[in-house]
Amino acid sequence: MMNEIIRLPESVSNKVAAGEVVEKPLNAVKELMENSADAGADSISVEIKEGGLSLIRITDNGRGILKEDLPAAVERFATSKIRDIEDIYSIHSYGFRGEALAAISSVSDFSIMSARNGEGNELRMRFGVPEPLRPAPSVQGTCVTVKDLFRNVPARLKFFGSPQGLEREIIKFVKQFAVFTDGVAVRVKSNSKEVFSAGRDESFLQKAKTALGVDDLAYGEKEYSGVSVRMAASLPTVQRYRRDAMIVAVNGRVVKDAAVVQAVVQAYHRLIPENRYPACAVEIKVRPEDVDVNVHPAKAVVKMLNSRDIFGMVHDCVRDTLDSQKNAPAEEESA
Ligand code: ADP
Ligand code: MG
Repeated sequence: MMNEIIRLPESVSNKVAAGEVVEKPLNAVKELMENSADAGADSISVEIKEGGLSLIRITDNGRGILKEDLPAAVERFATSKIRDIEDIYSIHSYGFRGEALAAISSVSDFSIMSARNGEGNELRMRFGVPEPLRPAPSVQGTCVTVKDLFRNVPARLKFFGSPQGLEREIIKFVKQFAVFTDGVAVRVKSNSKEVFSAGRDESFLQKAKTALGVDDLAYGEKEYSGVSVRMAASLPTVQRYRRDAMIVAVNGRVVKDAAVVQAVVQAYHRLIPENRYPACAVEIKVRPEDVDVNVHPAKAVVKMLNSRDIFGMVHDCVRDTLDSQKNAPAEEESA
């Protein structure tokens, strides 16, 4: 008799898991940019076509991957970033699950070219099927090319909106990513046109202005017992109808944190009308051991220890930032 229960081959289980890690082109861009940042790159370029459906290419000048490691890089649960479960409680990198490249390469025509110590190699995977390693140009860094994402998953493709919508999401994400990534030059080309670039030396405030599309932002920061907060917060004259111009990052990761957003909203109470919202970029840095990043496959949600104290700090930081803006002109006059 044949067994009814079988262990799925990796080529199948990768495709099953891919749905969770890469829901849409945006997730692939995010995972690949995070890999570049983890590799210590200070220059990351993104190229997309048709909202990432026909092409996503991320090129970085990071540390690159050894030839011997290239096949493992696309294997599921293969990572250079943790060794033990303990390590995720003091994580300094964006990645650690070792899932992204396995997922992306199982649902696209995928290539990873990487050079380290002057030796370049390329590994190509077509919808999960690997080809033999080939020599590649020895430009320090890594270049990942993703073509025809989800072409082998027609059911998934059906759920995407227009390429324009997908493009918009990606550009919005990259601008936000740049805000919270100090000292890294980022550029984006879409359908062969440059649509965004941030210089290596561009300030947090300047990048926040670009990401939010708002000029009237003031800079503020606070630090207390291992937690630091910095923000670009809009002046009360900025009154948005929706909450989506408030972005939050925890230890460099853009996250959805309704409680932090609520702390900001409360700080504007009586400064702007009810049902209107400010624009802001809030960055919270806590000790890696005080945050759990492993609560969500795409890491879009994190759990912070002492979160109530942190909300208080965010609230106070908004208040102080706005107060210092109010006082600034007066001080100038008396000087
Ligand atoms: P994770 O980032 O969780 O480790 P990934 O599947 O995203 O898992 O990547 C697997 C491994 O491939 C990484 O741990 C890293 O060693 C290597 N890698 C991926 N992208 C890059 C890159 N751009 N530069 C250098 N190494 C990379
Ligand atoms: Mg990764």
